[in-house]
Amino acid sequence: METDRLIIYNTLTRRKEPFVPLHAPHVGMYVCGPTVYGDAHLGHARPAITFDILFRYLKHLGYKVRYVRNITDVGHLEHDADDGEDKIAKKARLEQLEPMEVVQYYLLRYHKAMEALNVLPPSIEPHASGHIIEQIRLVEEILKNGYAYVSQGSVYFDVAKYNKDHHYGILSGRNLDDVLNTTRELDGQEEKHNPADFALWKCAQPEHIMRWPSPWSDGFPGWHCECTAMGRKYLGETFDIHGGGMDLVFPHHECEIAQAVASEGHQMVRYWMHNNMITINGQKMGKSLGNFITLDEFFTGSNKLLAQAYSPMTIRFFILQAHYRSTVDFSNEALQAAEKGLERLMEGIRNLDRIVPAQTTSGIEPAGLREKCYEAMNDDLNTPIVISHLFDATRMINTLVDKKATISAEDLEELKSVFHLFAFDILGLKSDAENNEAREEAFSKVVDMLLEQRMQAKANKDWATSDKIRDNLAALGFEVKDTKDGFTWRLNK
Ligand code: ZN
Repeated sequence: METDRLIIYNTLTRRKEPFVPLHAPHVGMYVCGPTVYGDAHLGHARPAITFDILFRYLKHLGYKVRYVRNITDVGHLEHDADDGEDKIAKKARLEQLEPMEVVQYYLLRYHKAMEALNVLPPSIEPHASGHIIEQIRLVEEILKNGYAYVSQGSVYFDVAKYNKDHHYGILSGRNLDDVLNTTRELDGQEEKHNPADFALWKCAQPEHIMRWPSPWSDGFPGWHCECTAMGRKYLGETFDIHGGGMDLVFPHHECEIAQAVASEGHQMVRYWMHNNMITINGQKMGKSLGNFITLDEFFTGSNKLLAQAYSPMTIRFFILQAHYRSTVDFSNEALQAAEKGLERLMEGIRNLDRIVPAQTTSGIEPAGLREKCYEAMNDDLNTPIVISHLFDATRMINTLVDKKATISAEDLEELKSVFHLFAFDILGLKSDAENNEAREEAFSKVVDMLLEQRMQAKANKDWATSDKIRDNLAALGFEVKDTKDGFTWRLNK
């Protein structure tokens, strides 16, 4: 019933639209993944979590989702072109490693951080370096259609030519003059017909270690090619959703659109979705600004900007407390508030199990919670509103625990079911592992304490008490063994 009501904001049309997949129940979804030459930071967490929510929700609605998130491991020159050298190749050269050793090292760390954030793995994670043939084919098609030219072994996209037939800037709302005015002087300008042209294939300098043969030169593909080539390979010539951070709208996604249109005559993506950025104390995050905090540093607290360590679930909850199209400003105060809020929510969920149902519901109004949560999710994934509904429900739970209201068995089951669905399955929250460990430790100590009381009872020849403790523990699944100097126990479950 809810499946036809999901509304999402499409960056391409600049409005909210009902989500209607091309081949329901199948949904194809592509999200630009990490460039793996350094540790994941807060800026990586946001798109990963945003599109994890979309992935989870679409699956919950009954769609069969193929979620592709690429690994950029070659040719990423456009962004931090300090010296025009590939970041991975540079790291490999400096540390005398194979480039793939650098990729593997950071990819494993990225996966570990994503798992800690409870981000589900995508269906496919293709590497750019594993799809050179597909990228060469894409470049050949664009050349054949006349929208690219070869210059000194490199291939450039002819933006002016393309703009005559199509609109370059359709996604970012720019026109070619704006683009020309904002284009920075980058590597290879002298080879281009026009400063706005972008590389489809780059001829490698002799010292460049990541290189492949092509019809034009030994070299490597331009960064924008991989997403067009791999999106097409795994999701088809037209697919439903393409996502990423807002910083990718221009030039990356604009170039992807141009490449798709120039090679196959039509756009490849139906809904473009972009998450907004994270700022740190009101400033853009960046290595040069010295306010760059990796996820590992958040989890361990080892960064001078952090007042304490923050658990992965606190980070997740903090991000979900804002709508994905709003900016999020990091500060210690904001994260501490998120930590408290999450704990309050989790406590509410735990308290649900302590409530004994009554004949009727009175003193609270639990009806309609499920519908309200769906309504918020259907409104362009409005997670902060879902969270505020769950907080309202937490207040009801507290009233019930304080015995100031009653709830029927049926209403209680519904409340539990809504909490599990929205908090755990859809928002992907969970009790923190650290909390679980602390809880387990306390729990072990309670069992030890009971068994010490039993030993005391035995010493006092109080067999009734001693047997009662043993029998009660056995009923809960504890196997107790008496030893020479005390006891051992284990839980059989
Ligand atoms: Zn991409």
